[in-house]
Amino acid sequence: MMGRAEKPEKTPEEIVPSDLNIPDNYVQHTLKTVKPLPPFKWSNFINDLNWLNVIILCVTPVLGLIGASTTKLRWETFLFSIFYYYLTGLGITAGYHRLWAHRSYNASLPLQYFLAIVGAGAIEGSIKWWSRGHRAHHRYTDTDLDPYNAHKGFFYSHIGWMLLKPRRKPGVADVSDLSKNPVVRWQHKHYILMILIVSFLIPTIIPGYFWGDYRGGYVYAGVLRLCFVHHSTFCVNSLAHWLGSSPFDDKHTPRDHVVTALVTIGEGYHNFHHQFPMDYRNAIKWYQYDPTKWFIWTMQKVGLASHLKVFPENEVRKGQLTMELKKLKATQERLAWPTDSSDLPVISWESYQEQATKRPLILISGFIHDVSNFIDEHPGGPHLLVKFIGKDATTAFFGGVYDHSNAAHNLLAMKRVGVLHGGMRQGLDDKSIPPSQRLKIARYNELSPYNSSTAYSDGEGMLG
Ligand SMILES: [Zn+2]
Ligand SMILES: [Zn+2]
Repeated sequence: MMGRAEKPEKTPEEIVPSDLNIPDNYVQHTLKTVKPLPPFKWSNFINDLNWLNVIILCVTPVLGLIGASTTKLRWETFLFSIFYYYLTGLGITAGYHRLWAHRSYNASLPLQYFLAIVGAGAIEGSIKWWSRGHRAHHRYTDTDLDPYNAHKGFFYSHIGWMLLKPRRKPGVADVSDLSKNPVVRWQHKHYILMILIVSFLIPTIIPGYFWGDYRGGYVYAGVLRLCFVHHSTFCVNSLAHWLGSSPFDDKHTPRDHVVTALVTIGEGYHNFHHQFPMDYRNAIKWYQYDPTKWFIWTMQKVGLASHLKVFPENEVRKGQLTMELKKLKATQERLAWPTDSSDLPVISWESYQEQATKRPLILISGFIHDVSNFIDEHPGGPHLLVKFIGKDATTAFFGGVYDHSNAAHNLLAMKRVGVLHGGMRQGLDDKSIPPSQRLKIARYNELSPYNSSTAYSDGEGMLG
């Protein structure tokens, strides 16, 4: 998280997109040809751990716990710590994440400086370093080129990826726009000084100066608050890829959950976010918890932000519909359906007559049905069925004697054992398609005209 490579600074004109000449098969090629470092081994922990991050991420909570157990918490300091948590957290969510990594809105210069400063107080690396990793995360989600690949487990995506030296360089992601941004360059240059001032000095001085609580300010608003901001934002990479539902797409691990939103200042609608990363919102419903969205919206109202990007509602709805259809298709597949006419034997009228003398067969809408185990259960009485054995009961079934319910028609279709030769009309006939099959979910390749089935035969088939 605290990677900050020192290279000679380029002028804006010298900066070109890093993925300008990326090969077409980049992902596959890189994963195949670039060997990762061997897996982490405890016997080699001296070399395998990123010690700067280990110290920051382990010392902070220990120091915080020692401090909290020896320092009285005053309510003024408590409220200020919560306020400061939101302030530095928003630096990450509204600044680092939605403004710089995703360009989901435009921020005026004062707002950019504000977000760059409070964002530094979260000690998660400079904007440029953070955004580079995050853009790779979105581009190569769930692969080894994703720096916090959720497939490597909850711990790894939460914090492990920072404690270890990366096993592989994150995939190429362009940040040339950020390299040209004066605020991002300014923050990158003064980063170390800024984290000391914003993360520790200010939260110590404010409670100290105003209500005489220097020590409490340092412990609660400084150290412990930092610990909370860390784990709260880390949850976007771990919890948000693990807990919840996928209402927009289920190709990758990101999920939507209110609990994640609550602990991440509104970044918990992560399934939506990975589908529509340029959208300034994470939560699209007004009642869902997304203070980062509310903050950006307010900044627009006071004239400090503009061009808030919103993905077209129509396209968002398509994603939702796809996922709903998928669920319905699974339900559809769990049910038993009548045998398709193309899988049934085609029977001549004479053969039907002959076989109907041996078992109760009834012809309705071109299909021959075996009603042996239904005669006694027929609500209208067995005599009405017996009457039609070996005959065509189509008219009687569809209202001639009784206009049967949809449920009855569905059940009837389950008793099909054959198709009468020449007895079925081409195309979709209301009487030959049971109500439960008139509307169904099919994959596009199942809708191809070459797959539609029409029964044909010389009429010599036998009933199964
Ligand atoms: Zn993610
Ligand atoms: Zn993102």
